[in-house]
Amino acid sequence: MRICVLGGGVIGVTTAYFLARDGHQVTLVERRADVAQETSHANGGQLSYSYVAPLADPSVLPKLPQWLFSRDAALRFVPRLDPHQWRWCVEFLRACTRARSQQTTAELLGLGFLSQRLMHEIVARESLDFDYVRNGKLVVFRDREGFEGACRQAQYQAKFGCEQHALDGAACVALEPALAHIGGDIAGGIHTPGEEAGDCDSFTRHLARAAQRDGVQLQLATELSGLRINESNVQAAITSQGDIEADAFVMCLGFQSQPMLASLGVSVPVYPLKGYSLTLPDAREHGAPRVSVTDAHHKVVYAPLGERLRIAGMVDLTGMSAHADRERIALLTRQARETFPQAGDYDAIQTWTGMRPATPDSKPLIGTTRFRNLWMNTGHGALGFTLACGSAQLLADRLANRALPLDGDAFVPARWTR
Ligand SMILES: Cc1cc2nc3c(=O)[nH]c(=O)nc-3n(C[C@H](O)[C@H](O)[C@H](O)COP(=O)(O)OP(=O)(O)OC[C@H]3O[C@@H](n4cnc5c(N)ncnc54)[C@H](O)[C@@H]3O)c2cc1C
Repeated sequence: MRICVLGGGVIGVTTAYFLARDGHQVTLVERRADVAQETSHANGGQLSYSYVAPLADPSVLPKLPQWLFSRDAALRFVPRLDPHQWRWCVEFLRACTRARSQQTTAELLGLGFLSQRLMHEIVARESLDFDYVRNGKLVVFRDREGFEGACRQAQYQAKFGCEQHALDGAACVALEPALAHIGGDIAGGIHTPGEEAGDCDSFTRHLARAAQRDGVQLQLATELSGLRINESNVQAAITSQGDIEADAFVMCLGFQSQPMLASLGVSVPVYPLKGYSLTLPDAREHGAPRVSVTDAHHKVVYAPLGERLRIAGMVDLTGMSAHADRERIALLTRQARETFPQAGDYDAIQTWTGMRPATPDSKPLIGTTRFRNLWMNTGHGALGFTLACGSAQLLADRLANRALPLDGDAFVPARWTR
């Protein structure tokens, strides 16, 4: 089959790779000069297979006033005159029940474990240089209540096969000595030894080269302006380099999937959650963590990427503009410096802004649309790097009408578009 994949982030590239390995003739369209130049460029770098619990959870409800009124909150909401934003918020609130949160966690754990197995296969098969480490992850809590809630969550997840251990503050510092500076503030931590990290940008670029070897045609610097459709089919992608005809099309445009699909009358609740990252170029051996760390209090993640330390955080529900807010970057820098003061030279940090393509229930949209040959693989929110391989496999299996390795119905777009 001739398949045109739209978008060259980590999702589009893994999709193209898996489809090409199935024997399809794949063309990937990307407007930038290279792949992974937008949200997949400098994200947190954590392959966080056991930390997939959705943002929508009853525990967030008491925090809503803080999100609205505090400029220093980890999550910030600025209401816009935008019905799409309001619809997303309403659906988000509807998803904030214990039952839905637990169901979603179970479904995403399945997709996470599938992704991890496939990542291991890819790493064994391809020589991809992306600072990949199996270094485990430690989530530290500065308040007793948060730690106890995390212990309950770990107990719930144990029945799905997650190996996680609760540690007291001293044990957290023993595991990751770079935490010594805030050791006295740590109420406890959850350690997940099987977690991994890597540079999403390098992974995506190297996988794109491997996909080219398998026959994928990369059409870079090619802007998609629309799709030519008849009643039930897409006939061609209309691009700055001319029309591309294919038997099937897969929409992987990240947060821009929503306006592109809306132009065809297909409505999906994908909204950008803006975030920021900092990269410390020469992380110091004893001051920077070697285990991936999440500071649950500030909602900031730290991942070692070779010589570098990647620091990421902030969730801003503030509109479609990717404009970098200097105050948010300054806040993130201050929090990192206070947590790991000896990690490196903070005056040399590189800053970055990205737009997480988020659905209200944190589950990606993998499947077809009301146009028979238009598929989507999008809406991965805060976990696109983590879930990329499993999502691409699921999409390829569905397209080939094969038996699915898990309950694919959990991710069908029809749950929102019907
Ligand atoms: C601060 C931050 C930290 C994060 N940390 C992590 C983490 O630790 N672990 C994790 O798993 N995930 C993390 N994520 C989430 C992850 O980065 C995203 O889920 C993922 O990158 C989304 O990939 P994508 O391919 O869907 O989107 P993108 O990477 O945005 O790709 C979409 C592509 O489509 C292209 N495109 C758009 N419109 C057009 C058009 N009209 N024509 C042609 N091309 C077009 C864009 O140029 C882009 O390359 C983080 C995100 C942020 C912002």
